[in-house]
Amino acid sequence: MSGRPVLVINSGSSSVKYRLIVPGSGEVLADGTIEQIGESGGEVSHQVGDETHTGDHQAADIGAALQLITEQFAEHGPDLDHADLLAVGHRVVHGGPDFSDPTMITDDVLAAIRDLSGLAPLHNPSALAGIEAARERFADVPHVAVFDTAFFADLPDVARTYAIPRGLAERHRIRRYGFHGTSHQYVAEVGRGLQPGAEPDQPLRQLTFHLGNGCSAAAISGGRPMETSMGLTPLQGLVMGTRSGDVDPGLPGYLAREAGLTPDAVDTLLNKESGLKGLAGANDFREVLRLRAAGEDGARLAFDVYVHRIRHYLGAYLAILGGLDQVIFTGGVGENSADLREAAVAGLSGLGLVLDQELNRADSDQARVISAADSPVAVLVVPTDEELAIARQTADLVGPPTSR
Ligand code: ADP
Repeated sequence: MSGRPVLVINSGSSSVKYRLIVPGSGEVLADGTIEQIGESGGEVSHQVGDETHTGDHQAADIGAALQLITEQFAEHGPDLDHADLLAVGHRVVHGGPDFSDPTMITDDVLAAIRDLSGLAPLHNPSALAGIEAARERFADVPHVAVFDTAFFADLPDVARTYAIPRGLAERHRIRRYGFHGTSHQYVAEVGRGLQPGAEPDQPLRQLTFHLGNGCSAAAISGGRPMETSMGLTPLQGLVMGTRSGDVDPGLPGYLAREAGLTPDAVDTLLNKESGLKGLAGANDFREVLRLRAAGEDGARLAFDVYVHRIRHYLGAYLAILGGLDQVIFTGGVGENSADLREAAVAGLSGLGLVLDQELNRADSDQARVISAADSPVAVLVVPTDEELAIARQTADLVGPPTSR
């Protein structure tokens, strides 16, 4: 087992999350976030053991944020120059048609990721900036890209295909890619080990709901992806914090003609101003729950539409898989909101889903079964750990497989 740590870097548009982690054991040596990059009054948080160091920063861009991360390690430890770093693993949202596995980053790979920016203008540029800065700072270790789309690279043709002219789709690389793949794959693997009464290698039909700021569902059979709710971009599917999820494909054209919106303005509207934020005025699910409890109409509607969309996919994926063995909830909302989980499967005993109310409400941060002992379909909560999954995939590519 490799004891050498991997530094995992997740560069978003306005924040960078990082974690120094031993892939084999999962031991976290340090964990941090730089928020509000490019704005005044940004915050940095660096956790080592039980101690959390927080402060203000003025990081103007991701390059400056990487410098700040280096300073955090120098000031609060562990000392990166003596950490015997195995590699740096980068989360990259869009791998396009070419990247279906974790990939060693070279200049050519970087150029290919840059070439995908048209497909993911909101996501890939920040990952690129993070990779470039990190390659400069950690020039002596391998850098690996782990793509959010990779797990869904072999979606069946029927699931990946939009019914638009084929030549056009090929020319512009238009297909359903799927996202949050690292998370869906990780929780499905953990879930397989928890299936009541199953043989260890028994193939399962699993439905995974990743419900965080972004939200997606995946149908998985025998560990392989059969369907997922996100498509060409991470906009399709479930209702999210600020993203609409499914709308009529006629809506952008209608908005352009009726409201005079440009293509970019439509993108901004559907990606940043919609979802829970558009309906309830708040994108944070806890805030929506609070407003709903206070009797706010918009928050009640937001919760109901969010749940309705989840049930829509639950029914669709049950049909696609030809039955279900497991439903898994993960992500900040899926892991923490018993109200959401209860509403998502309420009245579905006819389909084999019966919650144990006490287990659903129990206070726990562990992977666990929350369905009744005699529920034909097991319902689980599995905390996701994308950083650990990225660290392991990175280590597997760079060195001998990590034993777990
Ligand atoms: P990200 O997608 O950025 O990784 P998370 O997976 O952390 O985000 O999910 C963030 C969402 O989880 C927020 O909407 C937040 O309100 C919600 N959340 C976190 N804790 C709770 C909780 N105890 N109850 C309900 N929702 C929660």
